Amino acid sequence: MSFELKVLSRLGRLRGLLVAVVAMFALGAAGGEAAAKGSGKASKSSKKKGRKWGKRPNMPPGWVWPPSDEMIAEGDRCKAHLTEMGVKWEVGQAERKIATPIVVPDMKFGGVELVPLWRKPPFVMDCHMAEAWAEKGGPALAAIGVEKVVFSTIYKYRNVDGMNVLSRHALGLAMDVYQFITKDGKTHVVLGDYRRGDTVLHDIENTANATGGYRMLLTPGNDRGHYDHFHFEARTPGERIETPPTRQPKPRKNT
Ligand SMILES: [Zn+2]
Repeated sequence: MSFELKVLSRLGRLRGLLVAVVAMFALGAAGGEAAAKGSGKASKSSKKKGRKWGKRPNMPPGWVWPPSDEMIAEGDRCKAHLTEMGVKWEVGQAERKIATPIVVPDMKFGGVELVPLWRKPPFVMDCHMAEAWAEKGGPALAAIGVEKVVFSTIYKYRNVDGMNVLSRHALGLAMDVYQFITKDGKTHVVLGDYRRGDTVLHDIENTANATGGYRMLLTPGNDRGHYDHFHFEARTPGERIETPPTRQPKPRKNT
């Protein structure tokens, strides 16, 4: 065999070996996947993925994007309910992930008024947020003397702080409240007053939780990140309440 032929045959063998190795890898991978499927157990790597917070979409159960026919029908039910309750709503501007965007120009919901801290309207929100306030939160807070609920943010396309999880603000289902104004004209500021034991703020928290209208209410009493505001999340139909337990500071005695 000439030198050239020897080289060519060696190259041929090498190529053959390479093809065999690639084929083995392909078979191995496919075999592994089939084995994992067959045994009904997730492989190690997919188990890890399932545990990751980053993979949790934080959408209400059954919600998908773009909205399904069921979600659109549910949005229509919600809007009809707002009309029934006398809420003056209008169709809101479409936003990235709000399923049923609406605005309520007078911001009046069941006896309380939602007042912006500094932002300018329109305040687009999901219909379920308006429904939670008009049906549950508004009447319950009005009954304990609340007149105005002073908020900063409703819709904002962002993640939960420090996590790769879409915030409920991005769905128009959350609202951050910094102050409450009662019928006697007093302003109750979450930052400071809550920790000082303002019983009005504690009553507001307990009352709002008792309505069942909110999936989650985070305050200085149950979340460090919410030291200066109440984060209200509307509860969509069929959702569980996930508000963590709260610890309210004892009211300070007047000296
Ligand atoms: Zn918030």
